Amino acid sequence: MKLRDKYLVVPGAKVKLARWDPGDTAGIDSKKEALPELEDLRKKLYDLQYLLYAEKRQSLLIVLQAMDAGGKDGTIRHVMSGLNPQGCHVKSFKVPTEEELAHDYLWRVHRAVPGKGEIGIFNRSHYGDVLVVRVHNLVPKRVWSKRYEQINAFEKILADNGVIIVKFFLHISKEEQQKRLQERLDDPSKHWKVSPADFEERQYWDEYVKAHEDALSRCSTPWAPWYVIPANHKWFRNLVVADILVRTLEDMDMRFPESKLDLSKFVLD
Ligand code: AMP
Ligand code: MG
Repeated sequence: MKLRDKYLVVPGAKVKLARWDPGDTAGIDSKKEALPELEDLRKKLYDLQYLLYAEKRQSLLIVLQAMDAGGKDGTIRHVMSGLNPQGCHVKSFKVPTEEELAHDYLWRVHRAVPGKGEIGIFNRSHYGDVLVVRVHNLVPKRVWSKRYEQINAFEKILADNGVIIVKFFLHISKEEQQKRLQERLDDPSKHWKVSPADFEERQYWDEYVKAHEDALSRCSTPWAPWYVIPANHKWFRNLVVADILVRTLEDMDMRFPESKLDLSKFVLD
């Protein structure tokens, strides 16, 4: 089975994360075995991005969500390192500012959507508004519970206007999170990453699991599918993400545009 099909949340399916193995490697034994494939995918990504940029007809929006220490930053670094920074933007969504809070929750998101020809990566996203916001009751249930449908409608508007959307949930186990947070404490070069929030949020693990399950179940649509990426092994996570991005871009039916100029007029002497 293709990796893309294996990790797709089929629209309408109910996700139980306990049934998705975060340590899965699809039978690939080691990082060493995966590296040539990853290198090949990175080159393909580069060429496809070039075509996307030249064609300027569609854009690609990549949404990354994960538990803390789930590997969002690492995924961006590894998979996207082969892209041309011109035409690729990363937007991180943090605690909303006062100005952002004065608007509807999609306001800050919509303006960060990539324009035609561009790739946009969301490090966290509008899904925070049904994840952290739900877990901590930052708004009442009657408010957040309407957001799943609103998000589907919002993503449909984008899709109908040439934005191809892929959403990745980087799935790690609670033990893997513990290991990674401990590494941050033990390794001086990782101390800068230590945030009290990560340790506090860990206590809400089960609530976060439920909130993610609902978001994945209710918002994987034909126009904006969710993928659950096994992310305990960073090399495998990178491989699956790169694979899905390449297949998604390949499906976009892109072509180099024909020049509107009469090129025969340009003669070099
Ligand atoms: P990080 O991505 O680790 O830099 O942290 C960003 C922080 O912003 C996380 O603790 C998120 O939970 C928080 N955050 C993101 N979106 C929202 C939101 N809509 N409302 C409240 N907090 C948010
Ligand atoms: Mg963090």
